[in-house]
Amino acid sequence: MRLLNSAIIKVVELFPKSFIYLFASRYIAGEKLEDAVRTVRELNSKGIFATMDVLGEDTTNVDEANAAVDEAIKVLETINRENLKSTLSIKLTQIGLKLDYNLCLDNMKKILTKAKELNNYIEIDMEDSTCTLDTIRIFKDLRKEFSNCGMVMQAYLRKADQYLKDALNELKSSSVRLCKGIYNEPAEIAFKGKQEIRDNFLRLLEFLFSENIYVGIATHDIKLINGAKELIKKYNKTNEQFEFQMLLGVKVDLRDQLVKDGFKVRVYVPYGVHWYKYSIRRMKENPELPIAIIKNIFSKRG
Ligand SMILES: Cc1cc2nc3c(=O)[nH]c(=O)nc-3n(C[C@H](O)[C@H](O)[C@H](O)COP(=O)(O)OP(=O)(O)OC[C@H]3O[C@@H](n4cnc5c(N)ncnc54)[C@H](O)[C@@H]3O)c2cc1C
Repeated sequence: MRLLNSAIIKVVELFPKSFIYLFASRYIAGEKLEDAVRTVRELNSKGIFATMDVLGEDTTNVDEANAAVDEAIKVLETINRENLKSTLSIKLTQIGLKLDYNLCLDNMKKILTKAKELNNYIEIDMEDSTCTLDTIRIFKDLRKEFSNCGMVMQAYLRKADQYLKDALNELKSSSVRLCKGIYNEPAEIAFKGKQEIRDNFLRLLEFLFSENIYVGIATHDIKLINGAKELIKKYNKTNEQFEFQMLLGVKVDLRDQLVKDGFKVRVYVPYGVHWYKYSIRRMKENPELPIAIIKNIFSKRG
């Protein structure tokens, strides 16, 4: 099964887009904002919070970056109008990080001004390692003016603890989403072994707890969830000091159990026409990929 899995992963990008969409529809709310609204409302009705994400990254011109800002503002207005329990997650390359630092900073300020007016919060996603330092710098610059944004740290980064310490002052009154990290990084930059990434995740979580920083514990890994539960006990953390976070369509039973057990849970709800890159990343990390694909082939023909 392992061999079959890695063979499929290698060719996954050669599959027709329509086929990928069949599989992707589990991980994305749909192409339109109203699809995301429907999904968030459903999650909210189960006591689950959301963070909405307009799919897209690596914007190549200013017009695209401005359009992404307009869409983000539209999402914030919609969340407010529809009374949804949802924050907004943003990738900085979508609003111009690779074009110009100041353009991206100004764009974030526009989004945060609207979020502040509507009493909402922005989670700044962390992208590949070419963006790490600029993302942290933008986060720190924004915190001089805005209190309504948090950042993400990837536990696979060898320097993750240093990055957190560098931003400690700004993080104290803010939040960190802690995740393993999804991008394919070189070994000089990122740990590669499953266990060393887990170990670092729990080390970083303990550091954040000890510094009284609000953490979004973003994982579907049962070992990490159990490890986090031990740290929650050790540091006497209450639901006001952390939350669990998961991706739409992943480990739904585990997610629902956490809610049943009284934990605060937030689900990442991506939507939009640029669903392709996101879906490919999700497919590559899904160990049940071959089965899912074979099932899809049969259900399509059947
Ligand atoms: C809310 C949220 C936000 C995130 N934001 C970022 C970010 O800003 N930057 C970043 O680099 N990464 C981000 N990630 C992704 C993260 O870094 C991991 O790549 C991803 O969560 C998988 O790691 P895991 O801890 O769940 O452990 P894994 O070991 O990958 O997964 C644990 C188990 O979950 C199941 N599982 C995991 N993924 C899938 C899947 N796609 N389909 C089906 N089952 C699956 C499998 O059963 C697997 O055994 C985010 C993740 C979450 C939950």
